[in-house]
Amino acid sequence: MSDDRGFPADGEEFGLSYWLDVGDVIVEVSPGWEDFAQENGGDGIEAKKVLGRNLLSFVHGDVTRMYVRSLVQSARMLRRPICRTYRCDSPDMRRFMEMRLTLENSGLLRWEHRTLRTEPLSRRIEFAVGSAGRSRRIVVRCSICNRLKASGGWCEPDRYEAPLPAVEATVPVIYGVCPDCLGGRSTISASG
Ligand SMILES: [Zn+2]
Repeated sequence: MSDDRGFPADGEEFGLSYWLDVGDVIVEVSPGWEDFAQENGGDGIEAKKVLGRNLLSFVHGDVTRMYVRSLVQSARMLRRPICRTYRCDSPDMRRFMEMRLTLENSGLLRWEHRTLRTEPLSRRIEFAVGSAGRSRRIVVRCSICNRLKASGGWCEPDRYEAPLPAVEATVPVIYGVCPDCLGGRSTISASG
């Protein structure tokens, strides 16, 4: 993940945006927001429920919050757009995304997202935040590349060997940021 790498022109335009004030409060969302909210489960992220709230209240995990804070600070201090690739997988699909943070003349920070490409996961896998019971092990999931921490390192979600009983379709996770993403050495690929 670097600021100046090239991205394929075949990804869609930045369609989804929100604007943050100096206190990181969401003060505006783009017209396509409601469609996005519906596609992604809807409840809790409709425009009327996100406006006026701090962005960080939607971010799970201390390390991810730290990552987001440092992105926001960089965009404000450097005064040029910052782009990062990340993943926003659905239970069935790898979704390669890009975000762009731009400080506008108004002082608001515009945070945009777009899909670069998608590909199917080899098996469906669902996650729920921190819902481990006594007998269940919580897995760390990287908020940026969506890989899971396994004994042998960080692996793709559909390669994760979870000893899950058949009745448990959902993997309990906590969110963090893997060392590759924290250090800017992420291997999130925008092409191929
Ligand atoms: Zn990662």
